[in-house]
Amino acid sequence: MTKMIYPGQTIGIIGGGQLGRMMAVAAKEAGYKIAVLEPTMDSPCGQVADIRIVAAYDDEGALEELAEVSDVITYEFENIDYDGLKRLTQIAYVPQGAELVRITQNRITEKQMIVDAGCPVAPYIVATTYEQLQESIVEIGFPCIVKTARGGYDGKGQQLLKSADDLPLAKDLFTHSQCIAEGYVPFTKEISVIVQRNGHGETYCLPVGENVHVNHILHETIVPARIDTKTAGLAEKAAMNIADHLQLVGTLAVEMFVLEDGSVVINECAPRPHNSGHYSIEACNISQFTQHIRAVCGWPLRKPKLWGPSIMVNVLGQHVVSLTNSISKYPDWSIHLYGKSEAKVNRKMGHVTIMTDDINTTIKQIKDSGIWPE
Ligand code: ADP
Ligand code: MG
Repeated sequence: MTKMIYPGQTIGIIGGGQLGRMMAVAAKEAGYKIAVLEPTMDSPCGQVADIRIVAAYDDEGALEELAEVSDVITYEFENIDYDGLKRLTQIAYVPQGAELVRITQNRITEKQMIVDAGCPVAPYIVATTYEQLQESIVEIGFPCIVKTARGGYDGKGQQLLKSADDLPLAKDLFTHSQCIAEGYVPFTKEISVIVQRNGHGETYCLPVGENVHVNHILHETIVPARIDTKTAGLAEKAAMNIADHLQLVGTLAVEMFVLEDGSVVINECAPRPHNSGHYSIEACNISQFTQHIRAVCGWPLRKPKLWGPSIMVNVLGQHVVSLTNSISKYPDWSIHLYGKSEAKVNRKMGHVTIMTDDINTTIKQIKDSGIWPE
């Protein structure tokens, strides 16, 4: 049942990171109160929340407390405890349900879901043990990438195998969980589509973003993606098909590879706002965070419109000083910092969005500022 949640009521968020923080900021603009469940004390979302419950994500008492204070509950990352979330659906209003998390927190069920939705994926096999991997790797050949079924992010839990000689490199991954091995996709570009749907079935995609990764971490998103309109159409169609298949409520970010011939292959999905959608805060008439809040609160969704081309660049720990020194130089930069105290190397500390008609000149400007990795 889809309920309408009104300003003044409380939105509970599981997870206290930057995605939760930006959801909370969007919700507060409309007058909602925020409760957050997060094990660390001074979290990005905790800093802007009205109620902080400091406990593990699977702490039963804490989940009950969250249910008690919240009129609706959402989450900001997918590696939360599925059983805990499922229990929560019985005692609280969780319009996104628990299934979406169950499916997307495991690459095996996620890939199957994408295939069931009628979308193309890289050829892959499932292996429970290293021995199974050795036996069935011939089905996909080399080069290939072995990925743990659970818990990977920013390229962690992955191993590229260039040839059979590299196989032992993947052995350790099995101490973590089952794995999949997938054929290496010779992509020309990586793109993502953020699709959002409310309980009434209204569905919209944000404009397709073009993603550049450096050391497996998203470095920049350029919008609109520099792909032809046919490819953009294919990408949106695939995201819509997956959202329909899942009967999605909330947000799904769909990462894709673009091939030489302009076709797309689906890489993975995340059931939440995504780093590659941050540009929408400034560059669209609706941000991914505002739309997400509208979706889980049962509001009608707004048809997204891009105001103009933009580039979003992540700010990692090693870039914070350069960013701070840039504030006085670049009035056109929209600067977002997430309130994390320790600027560790490669830790996502914030991002910058710049609306620009000349991406190449802007990239040069960003490079000069020192927030661009070597
Ligand atoms: P995560 O984002 O969870 O770390 P991904 O599956 O998105 O894991 O992989 C991270 C990056 O590794 C991708 O963005 C892409 O650059 C590269 N990659 C992953 N799978 C493949 C593949 N099958 N072929 C080519 N590159 C890949
Ligand atoms: Mg990814």
